[in-house]
Amino acid sequence: MKAHDGIYLDGAWRPAASQDVIEVVDPADEQVIARVPAGGAEDVDAAVRAARAALPGWAATPPAERAARLGALRDVLEARKDEIAETVTAELGSPLAFSQAVHAAVPIAVAGSYAELAATHSFEAKVGNSTVYEEPVGVVGAITPWNYPLHQIVAKVAPSLAAGCTVVLKPAEDTPLTAQLFAEAVHEAGVPAGVFNLVTGLGPVAGQALAEHPGVDLVSFTGSTAVGRRIAATAGAAVKKVALELGGKSANVILPSADLARAVNVGVANVMSNSGQTCSAWTRMLVHRDRYEEAVALAATAAAKYGDRIGPVVSAKQQARVRSYIEKGIAEGARLIAGGPESPRERGYFIAPTVFADVTPEMTIAQEEIFGPVLSILRYDDEDDALRIANGTVYGLAGAVWAGDETEAVAFARRMDTGQVDINGGRFNPRAPFGGYKQSGVGRELGAHGLAEYLQTKSLQF
Ligand code: NAD
Repeated sequence: MKAHDGIYLDGAWRPAASQDVIEVVDPADEQVIARVPAGGAEDVDAAVRAARAALPGWAATPPAERAARLGALRDVLEARKDEIAETVTAELGSPLAFSQAVHAAVPIAVAGSYAELAATHSFEAKVGNSTVYEEPVGVVGAITPWNYPLHQIVAKVAPSLAAGCTVVLKPAEDTPLTAQLFAEAVHEAGVPAGVFNLVTGLGPVAGQALAEHPGVDLVSFTGSTAVGRRIAATAGAAVKKVALELGGKSANVILPSADLARAVNVGVANVMSNSGQTCSAWTRMLVHRDRYEEAVALAATAAAKYGDRIGPVVSAKQQARVRSYIEKGIAEGARLIAGGPESPRERGYFIAPTVFADVTPEMTIAQEEIFGPVLSILRYDDEDDALRIANGTVYGLAGAVWAGDETEAVAFARRMDTGQVDINGGRFNPRAPFGGYKQSGVGRELGAHGLAEYLQTKSLQF
């Protein structure tokens, strides 16, 4: 695949100071498809300097002009959507139709929403005898994961640019090609030099250097809770701001009055899509004991239908991790009703859609994030029991509630310790805040709440 052999710095592709490279692998056939620089601390430092130098100019650019650049960025992404989908499929492994419908389309919608918000948001308000100004936080260090490679980038960079911040992006090492394509789009959209910079590289090297850099005002991180905790500690020592989008173990609560077949089918699809590599996936299905066996049978049939329709997981490391969780589920006594630890193909990092029944709340597969196509079905006795199980993990990112009556579902959802709940299926809304309660994170992404993360207030008293 086409790849840049440099980093995008101060408006141009330039050679990296580091000689190290990352080999990009297609997870569907295990072939190396490209090589990109593995930037080091020196490269991060150069990028942060470029971002800092560009900050005063971009912060002073009228919001309408920033909105125009974001609108142009949205249009470039739209014009290049086929290329985006092909690139994501090549380095992440997702089926092309899913890459088109989700990996390309969602970030286009999000970029469009920030073009509109930048144009309509009021960065100034009167509060009694004060004028309150919303000013950019400064230089943003954005660190993103591979699971939705472009969406994760746009969800950080678009609100940063809308707010008047400048950015250094360190994308996931498994999916740097999508990040390079995004940098090309920013360039084509006419965003001034230095406002956006890209350093591809490894987490513990380039990521760590970015999180520690004194020239970064806000570290915006999406990834595992383990790395998020480290980043928060590093940033805390320097009293730097952080935004963290971390893991999840979301509950799909099917109340007795729900349309069971629909709730189970949508629930299985939710977990299997993107091969289970979705932080908000409803990986725990909670069913009333009276309808439990019926739900298990429906889920087994739904999972079997997926068969060949899902792509591989992203890497050999991820495949090994998911398999070890499946083995642990079997060892702890859960009943395997679909899939299993054996790879369904000889080549590629595939995992069969896997479903466990008779999962109890304390089992490892009911507590830890697996990040693969693995669903656990748990039994509850009554609503209080369902709530106790739903809230009984360290996470609180997302969830779902199904009921015959919407009011009943909403009442239950309001008692859940989680940041986003889909009612009877829900629909993605690019303007609704997304983020975690408890150890799922700090701060919110998307919409006006996402924009607020990149702004700080100054009040003048008269
Ligand atoms: P990860 O934490 O290993 O990596 C995420 C990013 O952090 C990558 O760019 C990586 O290079 C970088 N990184 C790794 N070590 C670092 C360090 N010491 N210092 C600075 N940066 C470092 O996570 P992953 O395996 O890429 O992604 C999977 C995890 O991400 C899952 O746990 C998932 O739940 C989580 N996730 C959360 C959300 C969300 O919105 N809450 C979205 C997607 C993924």
